[in-house]
Amino acid sequence: MRELIDRLEHEKILSREEFRALLACDDDTLHRRARAAREQIFGNRIYLRGLIEFTNHCKNDCYYCGLRRGNRNAQRYRLAKEQILWCCVEGHRLGLRTFVLQGGEDPYYTDDMLADIVRCVKAEYADCAVTLSLGERSYDSLKLLRQAGADRYLLRQETSNPTHYAMLHPPGMSLSARRKCLWDLKKLGYQAGCGFMVGSPGQTLDHIVDDLLFIREFDPEMVGVGPFIPHSSTPFAGEKQGDLRLVLNTIAILRLMKPSLLLPATTALGTINETGYELGILVGANVVMPNMTPANVRENYLLYDNKNRMDARVINQRLRAIGCEAVISRGDYIEL
Ligand code: SAH
Ligand code: SF4
Repeated sequence: MRELIDRLEHEKILSREEFRALLACDDDTLHRRARAAREQIFGNRIYLRGLIEFTNHCKNDCYYCGLRRGNRNAQRYRLAKEQILWCCVEGHRLGLRTFVLQGGEDPYYTDDMLADIVRCVKAEYADCAVTLSLGERSYDSLKLLRQAGADRYLLRQETSNPTHYAMLHPPGMSLSARRKCLWDLKKLGYQAGCGFMVGSPGQTLDHIVDDLLFIREFDPEMVGVGPFIPHSSTPFAGEKQGDLRLVLNTIAILRLMKPSLLLPATTALGTINETGYELGILVGANVVMPNMTPANVRENYLLYDNKNRMDARVINQRLRAIGCEAVISRGDYIEL
């Protein structure tokens, strides 16, 4: 294993078989080396992003997700621009300098409405970055939002195997459409984030290797990786959740493959384990996304069951307990 880790660190690539072996390994050296790689670049500095889940309406029907339109049990909500701006006031006061506006694919918010929201946040907080996570959008829509001031966009590829993609999504959604959207983000000058769930139904180690190879090709600024967690009102209600060790190994491999990457310790990781955020950071993650969604609606933004959240008011304390420090800055990607 040590030889594989050395080679990954120096050459940034392994054969498929070697990647599979490293993904499956239970040698903590991988975690220690990935943590050292993070510390070498970022020291003990962890970036924060305030997550504002502004709508849980969605026109899509992804089989894994609790917001899917087919879930009749969801209590739906939408936030008005003023409510979103209030989340930013509170977030800025707590030291957050990036706001992530996330939601289902909700046609209620037209391009013009979204552009107006982005413009208002940027006008109010010139020192902040705005990240969007709104699912797939047309080139023109992404262009308009970029021109309105959006800096970054998160869109997970979910899987890099077309057959597996079709197992996770209904007909009408395709991996090729997802990829086109990802490449459009790059063309438009967004800092782009992709990613995937570990342990989604039907996923094999080979699929994860495909994801690693796609990430190498796409060369994103950010990668979000977390465990799949079943939601009781979806077709995947009875499926197993993703394995903690496999999530941690994946994060560690990504840190070694691309040391400058922005890698969050995700909410899903914080949900399957009480110390999930800390574990993620200790194997190479360098971003945490405290939840800034208003308390009266956040209980309804349920992508999966028992969703946990990071409270912005305790984040500093939790980071200090593992020798890390939250940075008060936009925390842009820095090319090495
Ligand atoms: N609608 C947007 C943003 C919200 S979903 C989009 O689809 O991009 C954000 C992410 O949540 C998805 O990319 C998916 O990877 C993750 N997610 C959805 N359901 C999940 C589940 N059951 N377990 C773990 N992650 C899930
Ligand atoms: Fe909608 Fe995103 Fe959930 Fe798919 S993953 S159903 S696009 S919120």
